[in-house]
Amino acid sequence: MVTIILPVSRGGDTRRDRFVARVPSERHLPAFSGADSFAPMKIQLLLVTLIAALSTTARAQQDFAKVEIKATQVSKNVYMLEGAGGNIGVSVGADGILIVDDQFAPLAAKIEAALQKLDPGKLKFVLNTHWHGDHTGGNAHFGRDASIVAHTNVRKRLLADNATKREALPVITFDDTLSVHFNGEEIKVMHLPPGHTDGDSVIFFTGANVVHLGDQFFAGKFPFIDANSGGDVAGYMRNVGEMLKLIPADAKIIPGHGPLATAEDLKRFYAMLAETTGIVQKAIAAGKTFDQVKADGLPEKWKDWGTGFINTGRWLEICFNSLSKK
Ligand SMILES: [Zn+2]
Ligand SMILES: [Zn+2]
Repeated sequence: MVTIILPVSRGGDTRRDRFVARVPSERHLPAFSGADSFAPMKIQLLLVTLIAALSTTARAQQDFAKVEIKATQVSKNVYMLEGAGGNIGVSVGADGILIVDDQFAPLAAKIEAALQKLDPGKLKFVLNTHWHGDHTGGNAHFGRDASIVAHTNVRKRLLADNATKREALPVITFDDTLSVHFNGEEIKVMHLPPGHTDGDSVIFFTGANVVHLGDQFFAGKFPFIDANSGGDVAGYMRNVGEMLKLIPADAKIIPGHGPLATAEDLKRFYAMLAETTGIVQKAIAAGKTFDQVKADGLPEKWKDWGTGFINTGRWLEICFNSLSKK
């Protein structure tokens, strides 16, 4: 079996969600056998297969080649960078640069260039909201000079992945909260109970009144919840509810995915979570199967929420699987 693991294209979330292009297995691949009269045709077939595989790789690389990093000023010294993968939060100022998350490895040079355009200062800290590859892919690049900070479980999960380079590992870990006093404000990192994964943190730029919620917030879209990494639908919703209590009404919110948002947007997200998970919960209590839940679907008003990485069917499946465990 020839398996080509391609770097994730935009919208991918976990390492497992990386596009895996499978070239037909050996059983279907022509073998090189000198005595075989069909050998030339088989070699031709093999070449066609290889060319197809290579062009798929090229396409994936091209995807990243086309990505542009867009910077949005959120406050006097905090920016949001969008490219492919999770949104990046940036603090620039007299102390240098601190970033929250770093998208995919092939984008590291572009991210670095975008940071230099904002401020010529030195990158000192990288905070990871969680371990997924669309948020930590640049760690290996940035971790050579900057200190990576993350929850204990982020380091554990990255360590368990053989593909992780040593430089990509967080060097400072914490269990509950941690503060970085940087560029004239307290940047508070707070771990949340299991929700999107079991290692998520949110970051409060307390002076700038900006919050980075990582993948605890997909602005205007159904979220991905990673049960294989300790994620939990009920916990996810609880976390969003707790954040609504903590976040000031006039704060700017950087979501893990989606455009820069407000507390009002987070309220709408919470309302969506409450109503859609309530529908699935009721169906489970009534003894419905997943196929029935999927066939029933969701009310029309939530249709647009399924146009992102997670469509309506997938969201129902995530809810059904997580909520039927209880
Ligand atoms: Zn993500
Ligand atoms: Zn994620």
